Amino acid sequence: MALIVQKYGGTSVGSIDRIRNVANRIQIERDKGNQIVAVISAMGGVTDKLIGLAGELSDNPTEREMDVLLSSGEQQSIALLAIALNEMGIDAVSATGRQAGIVTSGSHTRGRIERIEPTLVNRFLSEDRTVVVAGFQGITEDGMIHTLGRGGSDLSAIAVASAVKADLCQILTDVDGVYTADPRVVKKARKLPEISYDELLELASVGTKVMQSRSVEFAKKYGVKFEVRSSLNNNPGTIVTEEHEAMESVVIRGVSIERSQARVTITGIPDTPGMSGRILGALADAEVNIDMIVSNIASDGMARHSFTMHTSDLGRAQSALKPVLAELNELGGEAGIETEAGIAKLSCVGIGMRSHSGVAAKMFNAMGEAGINIGMISTSEIKISVTVEEDQIEEAARVVHTAFGLDA
Ligand code: ADP
Ligand code: ASP
Ligand code: MG
Repeated sequence: MALIVQKYGGTSVGSIDRIRNVANRIQIERDKGNQIVAVISAMGGVTDKLIGLAGELSDNPTEREMDVLLSSGEQQSIALLAIALNEMGIDAVSATGRQAGIVTSGSHTRGRIERIEPTLVNRFLSEDRTVVVAGFQGITEDGMIHTLGRGGSDLSAIAVASAVKADLCQILTDVDGVYTADPRVVKKARKLPEISYDELLELASVGTKVMQSRSVEFAKKYGVKFEVRSSLNNNPGTIVTEEHEAMESVVIRGVSIERSQARVTITGIPDTPGMSGRILGALADAEVNIDMIVSNIASDGMARHSFTMHTSDLGRAQSALKPVLAELNELGGEAGIETEAGIAKLSCVGIGMRSHSGVAAKMFNAMGEAGINIGMISTSEIKISVTVEEDQIEEAARVVHTAFGLDA
């Protein structure tokens, strides 16, 4: 007998038929003698719909009320799945984030799991019941509801698996596993039998939404080995685990794209200490998430800084930078601001990059031959990212995928 944590995402519980399908899958495990804790998302589209309803009432609803509202999506789906299971003769009970002891800290709409006190879940399991836990939500020490950021049910599942010391954690979704690229974009993408935490973490942080990046970070930190597989078939999935030597022989594990990016360039910055800190400080205070950063000195001897961000942050960034530009000019600058929206980011990730050279050259050549212009470039130990015009991003992903021999 094994204790299995199974996470089912929005598409997998997206209709009454799909909820019955999940219940059937749980029954198969129960018949094998296994115990199940199912961590589930809201029915597909529900979270977006709730965001839309709040938006009809206010341009700026408080994050506290958004948490109360959005967490209701998962409260619906856990009860529906428990009802479906009960109807099949399986003794199942639902548990909200609070009932499951998911204690969070941090701010509303992006709570962090502090710890899990699975007293109630363990009691249900000792009574041999199937437990259906609401993903994406937790409760603060002082009783406020938190949600965990979009896609946050992945994090709930990994954290619950760690807390109940599950023998196995399965992320069941609408694809067969983690692919070398989003199979919706790159038709020749291949399913990976395994991937290291670090590679999936990098891919997730640059747009591969099959797993929420914070969930992978948590899994790595607490050593939760898990698999990603389909809720709709029984094909083998992808094992996510510690890296081992054989993994380094593959240079690029996967490519990822991120759309809706914007670039902001500040020109005419005095080339003296403290300027970058002022600029980035103002953006941080305005909670603008900066991604790539490039700075250089122009022919007039003044510095220029460029950074990328999500397009939705562009307005906030411009307002935050206005007073800083005035300040830079008082210090002898001739500061101006240029912005460009409609760009996207392409990233290649692989731990094999550490031991192979020429990776960037290969990527850039492939793009050059396809006539795709590269904007900004940034690299880390196991990742190379570039920006391109948004309407070329899919083609860029395909040519780079081919260049690294990833095509099926
Ligand atoms: P869930 O609702 O189960 O959480 P998501 O929609 O969050 O599922 O994630 C699954 C989706 O991730 C897939 O439908 C797929 O289009 C997308 N995806 C993006 N990149 C990849 C990749 N490299 N491998 C697999 N799926 C990917
Ligand atoms: N329902 C939430 C969302 O749509 C959480 C999740 O699905 O993981 O982001
Ligand atoms: Mg998801």
